[in-house]
Amino acid sequence: VSIPLLSRPARPPQTSSLRDPLTGLPNRQALTDRIVELDPRAGSRVVLTLDLNGFRQVNDVLGPEAGDRLLVSVAATLREHSPAEALIARIGGDEFAVLCPGDLARGRALAGRLRSAVVRVLDRAAPGIWVSASVGVGQLPDQPSGAAPDPRHRLGGLVESAAALRVAKEAGPGCEAVQVYAGEMARARERRLRVEHRLRPAIAEGAIVTHGQPIVDLATGRLTGFEALARWDDEELGPVTPDEFIAVAEQTGLVVALGEHLLDHALAGAVEAGVFAAGLTLSVNASPIQLRVPGFAATVADRVARLGIPAGRLVVEITEAVGLTGTDAALHTLADLHAAGVGLAIDDFGSGYSALGYLHRLPVQVVKIDKSLTVGLPGEPRTVAVVDGVVRMAHRMGVSVVMEGVEDEPGAGGCRAVGADRGQGNHFGRPAPWAELGARGSGGQPIQGEAPAVVVDDHGAQAGAGRGSSIGAQRPPSSS
Ligand code: C2E
Ligand code: MG
Ligand code: MG
Repeated sequence: VSIPLLSRPARPPQTSSLRDPLTGLPNRQALTDRIVELDPRAGSRVVLTLDLNGFRQVNDVLGPEAGDRLLVSVAATLREHSPAEALIARIGGDEFAVLCPGDLARGRALAGRLRSAVVRVLDRAAPGIWVSASVGVGQLPDQPSGAAPDPRHRLGGLVESAAALRVAKEAGPGCEAVQVYAGEMARARERRLRVEHRLRPAIAEGAIVTHGQPIVDLATGRLTGFEALARWDDEELGPVTPDEFIAVAEQTGLVVALGEHLLDHALAGAVEAGVFAAGLTLSVNASPIQLRVPGFAATVADRVARLGIPAGRLVVEITEAVGLTGTDAALHTLADLHAAGVGLAIDDFGSGYSALGYLHRLPVQVVKIDKSLTVGLPGEPRTVAVVDGVVRMAHRMGVSVVMEGVEDEPGAGGCRAVGADRGQGNHFGRPAPWAELGARGSGGQPIQGEAPAVVVDDHGAQAGAGRGSSIGAQRPPSSS
């Protein structure tokens, strides 16, 4: 039986659970049902998603009744300007979808027409209020050859349409208000899916490891510790950067398992390399999501205790993007870590949102200045002024400063000139496997030809507490 699934009068949603009471349009459930039921042999279909920008203003300024009326007019406009065989649905508060035959080119043309028509209606209905519309366009995918037929596969077209809509909205007012899911976007999503697919087995097999990168005292050139950085060289994908796979792990809930594995790997590697025996520190990165999982602080404290490491030799780095608010569970985790004696550092300071507030609200001992600022030293007078100010402020709070991404000797000089305590970067040593770092240390060979051999130094068990507290090996400053 072939039913003309897309023709409007055919098979109207039967029950109210499939219909939006306000506009009378099919709802999201009705739309997804229709997509799943489509006959795959009936030719290509595009799905448009349209979202109003500034709609909340209409509700706030003109009242909810005016908002409702406006949604009803948008629904009528979409009906009026869509092809007869289109299915029009209201899939969210101010979000609509149009499903119709055609390819991406036809979808783009229709999206442009619908958007213009809707914008005209909005201008008329809400004069003086800035309301507009963005549209994303996606195409329902063909059944992959060879795979067992799964009609839900076609829902991917709706996901892609929504992804394109997000890009259109992020472009902001005045920019491209219609986006077609294609090209870069398609490749990025494809890549993400591949990374996601490989990530779980990689974690299970222990294929993701950590390397250590030295952190040195800027004044003396002495090694004070290492930061553990995740590394994944996948047999199918090749090297995947932590920025990429940590983000995927966060979105898929894998970051907790991954984080525990990385913590164990870093601790074991650092023990093996003699880091703690030499009185040096180990810094590990924690994702904001890990901090919100109850028990994270206990896990960390437990590992440290089991290995017999002074808690202060471990530093947990958190990014300032954490977005901590008063009731955030992450705040409790930080307090617990602090109570357990574990060091805390704010990572990438000065990269995204200005977050001076974190410095005085959180129990941190270290602030790491982002490499985007370090590159401006010593050449950029404004950058010098900013970093100089942060260093002074941090020191007045008893917080020590690490400069990230120090790449050459002039840069190191610039960091010293603003009074920063420690530095990290390719100039002092690239991230390397723990076995390599250990061999260098015990063999007494300098790291990267300039950093010191690892020698025990007893003062400064407290990680990064206070300026210039260098823990570890002795060696005069070096110049390259
Ligand atoms: P991060 O914590 O700020 O780490 C420093 C980054 O700077 C590392 O990038 C490091 O390789 C890079 N870097 C070091 N020296 C230089 C230099 O001289 N110049 C430049 N341009 N870059 C330098 P990487 O390894 O790609 O890591 C990126 C980010 O991924 C890290 O930034 C961290 O936020 C995250 N990350 C890495 N490992 C982990 C992990 O085990 N867990 C979590 N949650 N995040 C991690
Ligand atoms: Mg870090
Ligand atoms: Mg950083």
